[in-house]
Amino acid sequence: MHSDTSPSFFDVVVIGGSHAGQSAALQIARARRRVLVIDAGARRNRFAAQSHGVIGQDGRSPDAIAADGKAQLLAYPNAQWRADAVVRAQRTDAGFALRCASGQDYGARQLVLAFGVVDELPELEGLSERWGLSVFHCPYCHGYELDRGRIGVLGGDALSYLSAMLMPEWGPTVFLTDGGFEPDEEQREALARRGVEIVRERIARVVDRATVELADGRRLEFDGLFTMNRIRLSSPVAEQLGCAIEEGPLGPYVRTDDAMETSTPGVFACGDITHRGGTVALAIGNGALAGIAAHRKLVFA
Ligand SMILES: Cc1cc2nc3c(=O)[nH]c(=O)nc-3n(C[C@H](O)[C@H](O)[C@H](O)COP(=O)(O)OP(=O)(O)OC[C@H]3O[C@@H](n4cnc5c(N)ncnc54)[C@H](O)[C@@H]3O)c2cc1C
Repeated sequence: MHSDTSPSFFDVVVIGGSHAGQSAALQIARARRRVLVIDAGARRNRFAAQSHGVIGQDGRSPDAIAADGKAQLLAYPNAQWRADAVVRAQRTDAGFALRCASGQDYGARQLVLAFGVVDELPELEGLSERWGLSVFHCPYCHGYELDRGRIGVLGGDALSYLSAMLMPEWGPTVFLTDGGFEPDEEQREALARRGVEIVRERIARVVDRATVELADGRRLEFDGLFTMNRIRLSSPVAEQLGCAIEEGPLGPYVRTDDAMETSTPGVFACGDITHRGGTVALAIGNGALAGIAAHRKLVFA
C-alpha cells in the first residue's frame, strides 16, 4: 500500500501507452501533475507498416508515431514511463492501487484506462500472417492504398453485409459469405445496386498476397481483404474496478460519459476500449479529452 507522498504514488496513472494513453498523459503532464504511463508494448496496429488517416502523420509508420509521442511526453520531467503490464487494480482510501506483472506496485489518485483491444481473427488458414499487410478491418485506414483494386469482404454475418455495401467506394467488391450468411432480397438488390458480387462458396484458405482459395478449388485474386472481426478488451482491469462494460456490435467496450469518465468515479477511459474508438485519430482525440477531464477532477473533486 502506498501513501500519497510515496514516489510510486502519482496524481494519475495511465494504463496503456499507445495513441490514446500518450494523448491523455500529455494533457496531465502539461498541467504539471505527476503522471505515470504503464505500457505492455503491444499496440493494436503493430502489424501495419503504415498508419493512415491521421492528419499531420498520414502514411508514417505506427512505430515512428508512437516513438515520437513517447519522446515528446517524456520531455516533461513530471511524466514517467514503465514497460510493464498492470495485472490487478483496486480502489483504496487515497485513490487506486495497482499491481504489475513485474511485482511492482503503484498508487494513483485517478486512473486513465487506455489498454486497447485484441482482434479475434476468423480461424482461416493464411489469414493471420497477412493481418495488417493485405487483410484489414478498416477501409478508412487502408482502403485508399488498394488503388481501386479488387476487394474481398470476408464474412458470414450481417455486419459483413454492411461492410460489403461500403467497400465499393474503394474498389470493385466481392462479398464472400463463406456459406454463413444469406442476404435477404432487399439486401441482394442493394448489393447489386452497389455492383457487389456475392460468392457463397466455403473458403478454404488465403494464399499469395490476398488470393482466396474456395472449397471447390476456385481461386479469386484480390488486392486486399477486409474482415469485420470481433474484438475483446486487452485487460480485465476495467472489470476489476467495477466499470460498466457494454456490448457493442463487434464486442465489449467500457462505458463512459461525455467526459470519458467510466461508471467508477475517478476512472477515465479512452481509445479503442470505448465506443468512440477505432482509429488513431479518434484515440488521440478522446485520449486528450480523458486527460483534461482527469486533470480537472483532481482540481474540482
Ligand atoms: C492491422 C491494423 C492496422 C491499423 N491501421 C490503422 C491506420 O492506418 N489508421 C488508424 O487510424 N487506425 C489504424 N488501426 C486502428 C488503431 O490501431 C487503433 O485505433 C489504435 O491503436 C487505438 O489506440 P489505443 O491507444 O486505444 O490502443 P492500442 O494502440 O491498442 O494500445 C493499447 C496499449 O495498451 C497496452 N496494454 C494492454 N494491456 C495492458 C495492461 N494490462 N497494462 C499496461 N499496458 C497494457 C498495450 O500493450 C498497448 O501498448 C489499425 C488497427 C489494426 C489492427
